Amino acid sequence: MVDTAKKLTFYDGTDSEGLAGRTDWNELFRNSPNFVSGTMSGYTVADAFARDGRGRRTAAAMLGLNQVGLGVVFVRPSNVNTYSAARTAALVMHEVIHFMGFEDGVIQQALNETGFSPNRRGSIEITDAFSRECFGTLK
Ligand SMILES: [Zn+2]
Repeated sequence: MVDTAKKLTFYDGTDSEGLAGRTDWNELFRNSPNFVSGTMSGYTVADAFARDGRGRRTAAAMLGLNQVGLGVVFVRPSNVNTYSAARTAALVMHEVIHFMGFEDGVIQQALNETGFSPNRRGSIEITDAFSRECFGTLK
């Protein structure tokens, strides 16, 4: 049973002076089966949102759950601020569904059953599918 009453809070993932700069990236995944304690010590959420070694932007958004199950979503404002309201809704849907306990693979499998065919672009395909199928736009 999914607990839909828990609170989810959004923060600026690029804010190195704020919560993103004080939150260890690995700690976002403490409740995930992929969590490995003590990896990448000192690497923060803000670091993860900084451009990668090739100057590319990384994620538009990422979710973490703390030890008591409260959820935080870090977003990249410069991405979201260029999105339509429809695409922003799709992004929020994507992160909220993670918060409800479903990881990308499970969401993609559910979408596959409705005709969704992944093109190997990763997690962003989920946001694309919600945006296209629910709202008729990718922008
Ligand atoms: Zn995802």
